[in-house]
Amino acid sequence: MTDRVAIITGGSRGIGRATAIAAAERGFRVCIGYASNEAAAHKVVSTIEATNGKAIAVKCDVGEESDILALFKAADKFGTLGALVNNAGVVGPTSRVDEMSADRIRRIMAVNVTGSILCAREAVKRMSTRHGGRGGVIVNLSSVASRLGSPNTYVDYAASKGAIDSFTVGLGYEVAGEGIRVAAIRPGLIDTEIHASGGEPDRAHRLAHMVPMKRVGNAEEIAKAIVWLMSEDASYVTSAILDVSGGR
Ligand code: NAP
Repeated sequence: MTDRVAIITGGSRGIGRATAIAAAERGFRVCIGYASNEAAAHKVVSTIEATNGKAIAVKCDVGEESDILALFKAADKFGTLGALVNNAGVVGPTSRVDEMSADRIRRIMAVNVTGSILCAREAVKRMSTRHGGRGGVIVNLSSVASRLGSPNTYVDYAASKGAIDSFTVGLGYEVAGEGIRVAAIRPGLIDTEIHASGGEPDRAHRLAHMVPMKRVGNAEEIAKAIVWLMSEDASYVTSAILDVSGGR
């Protein structure tokens, strides 16, 4: 158990929501970011408070550096940062590369890659013993797309997650001697609203037959792996990438 703060970007829905609830159950004070769905974010806060947990919600589009700075400022007032979950991530509509606009690709990279790196920068400034911090954990959300490449669907998204894999390994090495562990989870097909945002609400279920375990995963199954990485039970795990994908 800990009285420290965990920042979870994109904590209002899906995997981020499940992670916020699971982290609060393990004693973290949870600071969730959300892009626009204020009602969903406040519902997560109420759910956590109903079981005597502590949570706040802050509007933060991780594609905007000023929003990231505001998120961390709010978290500073809430307690001492102990964990960051770089969960916020977006896909574009299903498309081939030869049909993609520059704006679409820039947006995917700004949110999934630059946003995660900037959040990690702010977390390292607070948690690194080099800066007088007490250490901590950073968990990045990658995807099995980084291995599979997502042809004819969203190769740009897959490439953004490939960048997250490299970032996880490199940052982990960089801060391993400063009390910070860095790891990534690569979810497979998980039943959340991200598929609808890509224009294919039934994508996960349609592809379930391709999963060795023959089913989609749920957000709670990913959250359990994330909070394990955040815990002392994972005290010797860093620069590591864990597939939670039913074997896919
Ligand atoms: P989701 O259900 O679509 O939820 C997305 C969450 O991120 C929401 O809380 C949303 O906030 C927030 N968000 C969206 N754009 C944002 C932005 N620009 N800045 C900050 N927050 C933003 O997504 P999910 O399926 O839970 O995915 C979570 C992570 O897991 C992502 O990184 C995704 O790439 C990764 N992942 C998911 C799957 C899967 O099958 N679901 C598989 C592999 C990897 P609002 O509520 O305000 O919109």
